[in-house]
Amino acid sequence: MKILIIEDEESIRDLIRMNLILENFDVITAENGNDGIELFKKENPELVILDLMLPDKDGFEVLKELQSMNYKIPIIILTAKNNQNDKLLGLELGADDYITKPFDSKELILRIRNIIRRMKKSNITLNKNIVGSMYLDKNTRKFFVNDKEVYLTKNEFELMELLINNHKQVLSRDVLLEKIWGYDENIDTRALDMTIQRLRKKMGECGKYIKSIYGIGYILEVPDEE
Ligand code: CA
Repeated sequence: MKILIIEDEESIRDLIRMNLILENFDVITAENGNDGIELFKKENPELVILDLMLPDKDGFEVLKELQSMNYKIPIIILTAKNNQNDKLLGLELGADDYITKPFDSKELILRIRNIIRRMKKSNITLNKNIVGSMYLDKNTRKFFVNDKEVYLTKNEFELMELLINNHKQVLSRDVLLEKIWGYDENIDTRALDMTIQRLRKKMGECGKYIKSIYGIGYILEVPDEE
């Protein structure tokens, strides 16, 4: 398993790298945000450890760029101790976990192992994008219900993809709005509800599986027997 570390402080970078190598991970490293993004594109790592304080680019920007390329890759952010805002913002933006500096190497490994375990659990859904009688083909950007293609607009497709990839997990309105419409302050937040309504309609019988969680967001929940 290949892990990318993006961290400008050499001592920390080396410490993490050595610990991961001892645990038999493949490790690649970048000293700044731009190099990190380039390596991410070239090397397809399966997990990223990202420092938020980078010399060339804000870590949050890097986080967003990495996610826009592949939001399925788990990202662990490194933050300075006691910086609660950074932690929260990072998690809100979709980071999977955070580590505060200075950190304990054992804790870091433990957290990585936990994330990998969670990934493996949801792997069947992740790779095949199949939930119940719904099937989403990422390559051709086609969506099928009961083997029949359902034509979706770009936003509908992206929303469906997020729902399927996060099957049985609540997605907050903020996250959905951010991932699909970006940080556009002019966007009417009802756009999300309207897109969900259209999706449900197009999905026919399966539409009922997209549930509203009042005040929070949406969840796709298909019973296991389906
Ligand atoms: Ca740093």
